[in-house]
Order: sequence, then C-alpha cells, then structure tokens
Amino acid sequence: MNRRFKSLAPIILLLAVKASSAHSQAADTAVPKLVLFITIDAMRPDYLTRFESQLSGGLGRLYRGGAVFTNGYQDHAITETAPGHSATLSGRFPVHTGISANSAGVADTTVSLIDATGLGASPFRFRGSTLVDWLVAKDPRTRVLSVSRKDRAAILPIGKSKQPVFWYAPNGNFTTSTYYASTLPAWVAAFNARRTPGSYAGKAWQLQLPDSAYPEADSIPAEAGGVNFRFPHAEPSTADSAALTLAEYPWMDDLTLQFALAGVDALSLGAGPQTDVLAISLSTTDAIGHRYGPDSRELHDQILRLDRSLGVFLDSLFRIRNQKDVVIALTADHGLTPFPEVHARDPNTGAMRVNVRPVLQRLSNALATAGVPGYGLNYLGGYTGNGFSFDGGVLELNRPALAKARINQDSLLHALRADFLSIRGVARADRISELARSDTVTDNIARRWLHMFDNEGKAAMVVTLAPYNYWASISPTAQHGSPNDSDAHVPILFFGADIKPGRYTEFARVVDMAPTLAVLARVTPLEKLDGHVLQNAIK
Ligand SMILES: [Zn+2]
Repeated sequence: MNRRFKSLAPIILLLAVKASSAHSQAADTAVPKLVLFITIDAMRPDYLTRFESQLSGGLGRLYRGGAVFTNGYQDHAITETAPGHSATLSGRFPVHTGISANSAGVADTTVSLIDATGLGASPFRFRGSTLVDWLVAKDPRTRVLSVSRKDRAAILPIGKSKQPVFWYAPNGNFTTSTYYASTLPAWVAAFNARRTPGSYAGKAWQLQLPDSAYPEADSIPAEAGGVNFRFPHAEPSTADSAALTLAEYPWMDDLTLQFALAGVDALSLGAGPQTDVLAISLSTTDAIGHRYGPDSRELHDQILRLDRSLGVFLDSLFRIRNQKDVVIALTADHGLTPFPEVHARDPNTGAMRVNVRPVLQRLSNALATAGVPGYGLNYLGGYTGNGFSFDGGVLELNRPALAKARINQDSLLHALRADFLSIRGVARADRISELARSDTVTDNIARRWLHMFDNEGKAAMVVTLAPYNYWASISPTAQHGSPNDSDAHVPILFFGADIKPGRYTEFARVVDMAPTLAVLARVTPLEKLDGHVLQNAIK
C-alpha cells in the first residue's frame, strides 16, 4: 500500500502543477479584459453590404475583420427598441425579460433624473440577469459602463444591475436616474460642463463624400413628411435648440462615443485582471432612418459618418487598451421597413398602409352596447376602446369586464379574427394558445410572437400585417416593430483575438450573443437562457 501511494505521489503533484498552470494561463491571457458591446439602433444588415466599399472606419474594420452572422435575427415579434435591447446581454427573449414593448419599457415615475428634467427611468420591469450579473458574481471587481442617447437603450442591456448607466437629456447633459445614483460622478459633470451639444448650433449637415458617391436621389417627398428632405440639414442657431435637436444629427453618435471613451478612462474599464463591460447603444441611425427611410441619401451618409466616428473611437480605445484584451460584439435592436411609397431594394411593390381602425371601432361599439365600460388604460400610442386596447398589433381584453357583461370571449375573438382578416393587408390574426400548437421551426411569425407572450392574459389576439405593410398612422416616419424580416433581420458580429473571422450563414439570434460572450469570458450564466453558444465563431 505504502509503496503504491508513494509511486502515485509525483503523478498527482504533476497533475496539480499542470492544472494550476493551465488555470493561470487562461486567467492571464485568454479571458478578455473588456467586453465592448455595441448596439446600433435600427441597423439593417444591408447597410453593411450596400456601403461596404465606402466603410473606411470602424464599421468597415469590424465587418471585414470579424465573424459576421449574415442570417441573424431579433427573433421576437414586437421589434421595438426596448424589447430588442433587453435581449442583447440577457440571452433571453422578451417573454422572459418582461420587456414587451417601448410602452412597457423603462418609464418609471418613482425615480427622477439627475441634472435634467423629464420622465424618470429604471429597469424595474426587467426580469432576470445579464452578462454583467454573471461577471460580477464571478468577480466583484468587474466594472461596467452603459451609455446611449436613449434611456431604454442604456438601461436595458445590463438589466437591473446598479452600475454607471447614462443617457442623453434634451438639455444637453448626460444624465442618470435616482435608481442608480443621487448625483452625477465628477467625470460626467466635467463632460457635461464642456457644453459640446450647444457648439453644434448653426452647423449644417453636409455630405461626407462627393455627391457622386451617393446613388440615392435626394428629392423623395415621402421622406421627412415632405418637409426639409434635401441636403444640407442645418442645426438651429441657438445652443439650447441645438442640444434639443442633436438626436436628429450624425454627431449625436460621435458625442456618445466621446462620452464612452471618457468613461473608459475615468472608470479604468478594461485595465484590471477581471472582465469589464462597456455597452454602447448608438441611436442616430434610428432617428435618421425613421425620418428619411432606409433608402435615403441621409441614411447612407449617416452610416458613413458612424463608420468614421467608430473608427476614431476604436483607434483611441486601442491606444489606451491592448486590442488583444478586448472582445467586441455588434448588433441592432431591430431593423427598419421602407416607406410603402418608396421602392428601392426591398421587394415591397405591393406595400400599403393598413387601417384597422374600423374593426376596432366596431368592436368598441359592440362592447359598449353590451354594457362594457371604457378600459381606462393610458397608452402612449395605439387605440383604447371599451373593454380592450390595441397597440402594435396586440389586442388586450379587459377580461373581468367582459365576463361581468356575460360576453362569450371565444366567440368574440372568433368573430374579431374574421373582421381583421377582411382588411386588405392584414396577413393573420392569431390567439397565443393557437400559436403554441404551430410548427415554430418553419412558422417564423408564430415563433416570434411566442417569444413575446406566453399567455392570453397579456395578448388576447396578435395581428400581423403582410410583409412591408405599415400600420396607418398620423406619423410620417418610417416604421419598424413587426415580426416580419425587414424589422427582425439584424447584423450579428464578433471581433477579437479569440474570434474566427469570416461569414457565417447559419441561423443566429441576438439571444445567442450573451451565451457566446459568456464562454469567451469563462463565466457561467446564472439562469436558463434562450440563446445558444455560437461555437463556430470561437477559435
Ligand atoms: Zn430602436
């Protein structure tokens, strides 16, 4: 026995030494010191392919040197900013993050903004954890910064975590809410004191490249509601007005990136042995896409300017942090559908604006006659009638009120479906209980609705328009928000020392990004995720 024990001892010792050296190797060299997660609001994947030859900055660098998933989706139905951002670092669909729409996003009247006025915002509706929580659980030294022009785009990527989270207020300050802090840190106050937004007063947005570099016509009256749809676009002449309208100009993204860089320095992000997180959401592609559409000259120029700003940002970041220690992920919160009147690249020749208001009016009248009172919900958009509300294709019923009036809800929904389908441009009207029985592999629309809602308490019926159709609306802006591919298709891209560059055509979802980053950062998610590791992208 003794002899045998003795003879094994050196082997055990050797194994122990090997294990410890492998461990320290992974900790010292392989784990990224910084995860840089970039969300470009309303970035369609074709912006990368269409403008590739002109992308000489950061976008071009990431696109050419990264692992690019060309068949990537926000695989849920309500393709709005809040649900899209809730999926990025959580690895879970909105049905599990609890963020189902912008109207049920971050607005929170129990908190207030710091050094700014306006509606308070917090992640109180967000459920579950994100990559930030997993990293902090592994190593409490983990540092985090999340920034955007929009509150929901700064808050939701990192979930409920009380970290430095800042967004832009129309008074020209980057702000946060009392959910996170009671005062702004010195570096944010110093950045605000520069008053950069006001310095854009009177500046005109001109084309970045010579006129001949843009195949798009500049005189499309469908753009911008037919008002000021030609270059140049001038900022207002006073500092306050320039700060107020900055969101509509390409330099908003540049300012957001400058702010993020100041934060990297102030918080020493990526300088420690642990993995830190910098989440940046750039909102101007969304603002300009909404105003001028995805086929506009303005959108083209915005992407070129974003590319240049991102190039300067990455160059600056890699001067203070080693590029091999940084892993970058890039995606979008949703896409964008062209104006129904503009036919450029998408196969949208039959696109129309669909008005379902007569159906809703008939429903409201019928319920009022049956004695159902008004719903009393305060919706930001959409339609509220007696006993129901309708927003973004989602019909909610006031079930107790209907039950009290002895209305058979099954027959009501049956009749209502037929009424919706009688409107030209409506593709389908489904009940969640029926969708759950459909083939969710081949039926993209059913699957995307089921990634949004799991019971009929939240959505009695969901209405989907045919691809490329718009909801009739008084707003002249280009739309997104549907489960159709023009809104759901987004870029999914990774870039870094442990990433295998190339083009990947496999089906990928934004919820796959967090688990993939978790593997790279050698951290274990704290709960069950909807996403899977995109193993092919990892060296
Ligand atoms: Zn958005």
